Amino acid sequence: MASATLLEPPKPQHAKERPEEWNRRWESLIPLPLDPTIYLQHSMQTCAVKPNGLAAATDEYAQLLSGTLLLRADVTSTLKLAFPSFAPTWQSSSVETRKKHALIGLSEACSASLNLNLSRMITGDILTLGKLCNDWNTVVDLLQKITPKDDKDAKSLQSFPGKSWDDFIKRQERLPADKTREVVLAEMKVLRTKLIYYVLWFTMLSFLGVNRPPIMVQKHRATPRTEQENHLVNQQKELRKMFLGKETAKNVALEDKNAVLARHSLRKVHCYQCNKVQPTNPSDKEKFQRCSRCWNELQRTVTYCSRTCQVGAYKTHKAICGKALDVKTATEAASASVSIPKVGPVQIPPPVGGFKPSTHLLVHIYTLNNNPTKDFVVRIRGDVDSREEKDFTEIDCPFTPVQTIFRAARDKAMSTGDRESILNICHETLWFGMASTICVGWDLRATFRQMEKEWEVGDFRKGILEMQDRQFKDPFRRPPLMQGLHPQLWAVYINISPIDFNRRLETVI
Ligand SMILES: [Zn+2]
Ligand SMILES: [Zn+2]
Repeated sequence: MASATLLEPPKPQHAKERPEEWNRRWESLIPLPLDPTIYLQHSMQTCAVKPNGLAAATDEYAQLLSGTLLLRADVTSTLKLAFPSFAPTWQSSSVETRKKHALIGLSEACSASLNLNLSRMITGDILTLGKLCNDWNTVVDLLQKITPKDDKDAKSLQSFPGKSWDDFIKRQERLPADKTREVVLAEMKVLRTKLIYYVLWFTMLSFLGVNRPPIMVQKHRATPRTEQENHLVNQQKELRKMFLGKETAKNVALEDKNAVLARHSLRKVHCYQCNKVQPTNPSDKEKFQRCSRCWNELQRTVTYCSRTCQVGAYKTHKAICGKALDVKTATEAASASVSIPKVGPVQIPPPVGGFKPSTHLLVHIYTLNNNPTKDFVVRIRGDVDSREEKDFTEIDCPFTPVQTIFRAARDKAMSTGDRESILNICHETLWFGMASTICVGWDLRATFRQMEKEWEVGDFRKGILEMQDRQFKDPFRRPPLMQGLHPQLWAVYINISPIDFNRRLETVI
């Protein structure tokens, strides 16, 4: 396969199938000869041979830019929720662990589209495993830069400086003006930023053990190939045959075709105003409507999830609706529709006093920060590493005095790792599980195992049993966490769920 390596860059379908080999090949190519110039020249050539190539490329650029600005807003929201716990834990993990997750970030991002995969050519100065992971602060610094400073910042494309990339851009900008180069360069700048966002975001989510959202890839309209395009495709075919032999070339072409079909089947229709994704196999009611004028005039697909979003977008969309674009108007239109994401307050304070939450606990913190009305989320069945939503239940206490005490102990446990608070909330939760008759199919052993993993405190089982002892020494049979609660309030609470605690706890641990 050595000749194939010279002939073509690693393919997106190999990123997920065999990520290590795919990455090794990319990293052996990145310094040379894959200079951004090759990417630029190839894109300019493609643009030049397409009918309306320039207009189509400008449209694609506009959509890519607005998608990337919205992506930044999504990443910013996750960062607000997850970064305070992520950063210190990432710092204390080993280089190998960091590389494992960065490889997941890279391969998942690049497997989504040809564009993103090829963008490794223009991100080689940042996105290699070594550069991302040898120093813990690289990923942390890059993530920190993503959150926009203000609304103006959120509306413009963020760029990630790098020597070879900056030199390349400077060289290009000294060349005489050329409309095709202008749009291709603009598109390259966006792709570079988009890939960096996805890789950093997915690396963080993977490290936290959280599922990654689908990658937004826009649907391109299919135009029939021109004679010139056919010529280029045939040239490529001939080259392949020369290097690989007829049989192998045929197999490679078939594999490519199937991979393209598989990728296209994953493409989602999304709302251009709020980034919401249309469900797969939507009912007529769920189907997103597209802007009819843009479609009729230019076969440009601009889709909205609802009438509200379409109306909300029109104020800025009208400037380009049904009109052909140049880079400047495309840039203005895309940025006009974006603003700083509004994120509510975070529930759980960041870790203090050198406390390093376990990855299982990080997922719990992340989930709570995402659902500020929830008090706790516990596993009620399944294996300790499964992330299936059905394996969990959310606990929220409708009785304010109990909720206040629970939340205070929870926040202390989650941000400081205080042993007493941890045992208190875990015991209380197990007690609640046993006392509650509402949750059918709640396997308390799964809850127990999950808590043991999350908190990593020594003698966890012994600690819980001590809590139980203390509960029975209390004349009102309050769990230790609730022993500050007035007996009368406790009586009110206990009426909701009377229990035979001792007997049932013994069957669990
Ligand atoms: Zn929408
Ligand atoms: Zn329109």
